[in-house]
Amino acid sequence: MNYWRSTLKPLLDEEIGTIFKHAPIRVTLAFPNRYSVGMASLGFQVIYRMFNQEEGVACERAFLPEEPESFRGHLPTVETGRDAGDCELFAISVSFELDLTNIIRTLDVAGLAPLREERDDSDPIVMIGGPFTSSNPYPLTPFADIIAIGDGEQLVPVIAEALREASSREDFYDLIDGVPGVFLPARHVHEPKWATAPKELLPAYSQIVTPHSELSNMFLVEAQRGCPRPCTFCLARTMYGPNRNNQGDELLDKIPDWATKVGLVGAALSDFPHTKYVGRKLTERGVKLGVSSIRADTVDTELAEILKAGGLRTFTVASDAPSERLRRWLKKGITTEDLLKTAHISRDLGFSGLKVYMMIGLGPENDDDITELIEFTKELAKINRIALGVSPFVPKRHTPHFADPFAGVQTIEKRLKRIQKELRTTAELRNVSAKWAWVESIVARGGAEIGMAAYSIYKNESIATWKKALDEIGWHDEFESNQAVIDLPPGQLIRGVSSHAEGLAV
Ligand code: SF4
Repeated sequence: MNYWRSTLKPLLDEEIGTIFKHAPIRVTLAFPNRYSVGMASLGFQVIYRMFNQEEGVACERAFLPEEPESFRGHLPTVETGRDAGDCELFAISVSFELDLTNIIRTLDVAGLAPLREERDDSDPIVMIGGPFTSSNPYPLTPFADIIAIGDGEQLVPVIAEALREASSREDFYDLIDGVPGVFLPARHVHEPKWATAPKELLPAYSQIVTPHSELSNMFLVEAQRGCPRPCTFCLARTMYGPNRNNQGDELLDKIPDWATKVGLVGAALSDFPHTKYVGRKLTERGVKLGVSSIRADTVDTELAEILKAGGLRTFTVASDAPSERLRRWLKKGITTEDLLKTAHISRDLGFSGLKVYMMIGLGPENDDDITELIEFTKELAKINRIALGVSPFVPKRHTPHFADPFAGVQTIEKRLKRIQKELRTTAELRNVSAKWAWVESIVARGGAEIGMAAYSIYKNESIATWKKALDEIGWHDEFESNQAVIDLPPGQLIRGVSSHAEGLAV
């Protein structure tokens, strides 16, 4: 209770939109990371509201604290400080593959045995959902009773109904078995068809606004789900299902009058037909704007002016590959010309800079591609201040790159070093660690064995312990050329070069 009083209650006091509800069926919705990260997740917020809208169900939130060891199985919920593990359903929403060990920690801190086989019917049902499960549910199979895959909006009413009706754990499983999006690892080996929410359940929008979110005081509303573009590395078009655009007025209807900062969420907002309309309406009301993603080929001065009026100071675009031939290889459809045009727009309208995100370590990449990246960044920097975010490419399931190898830590570090050396005085550089990207590449394509490897090290996680645990299960790739060498769940792996990569002219 001390932690609740000293840490959670002050956060609670600054929230707008918290739901306080008492009901016979208690759901804990946990986020396996800090409060500020979880509160910036729109999916987490939607599931929180939807469970609380269900008759007979009350949902409270819990987050992984900074020093989990000191909680000894008594993690308090935010709303009332009750034990998070004292509930009928313990639901975890997880966005990132590297939160795999944090999921295990969250269960442990909440006083629940992380392994499904070590829990019994007196324990809460553990459900894991969120983008990670659509990307690759298999490493979660040792821990979850239910893995929810796809649009959560479609699944919450089904789960709530089963919680109300079931007389036993098996009865509960019987009621939800076979529903699209419901993966029961105790009963099935393969992931099911994903859940797809009908248009009536969209758009997603925030429930709680707080200054202590990573998106401080921002009310989020989802303009579009999915993406019709063909970029081969990206999960947006597969993971978020068919592209569904919401109407401009539908979004405006969801935004409360008190919102002073609004974030439009979508895969490619400069493609979304109503961004300008919604942006203009909001800026006329004096609302500040945030946008999740803009494509350099579809941004224009009019859109940039609206964003500027909405208080945006830096423009952010994704280049995604270091050279034009590799952007073609990814079917990204952005040219160096598009990036230069965007830099000009950003400068002409007085934006303080341009952030460009890109990946390196792509299949056919060589030193010439990195040379091109360095040269065009120098060109961009002559126009406006440039911040360059460089991430190692991590091949994902459900993309044509699934069977491509990870480029290798040494190769990526060598290229990062060169970029840093040659652009040190030209651009502000932000790199993602090559070694952690290597771990992500394994979790993104591994099976239950990878979940068990994470379980063996979650109390003492480091690159060294990951290497040791992976060695023990036979994943001897020593940071390099991460072709999976253990048996993965059926249908996951097509060995060799992906058919997409083979067929493309680069
Ligand atoms: S990279 Fe952007 S434009 Fe391409 S599919 Fe993904 S979200 Fe759509």
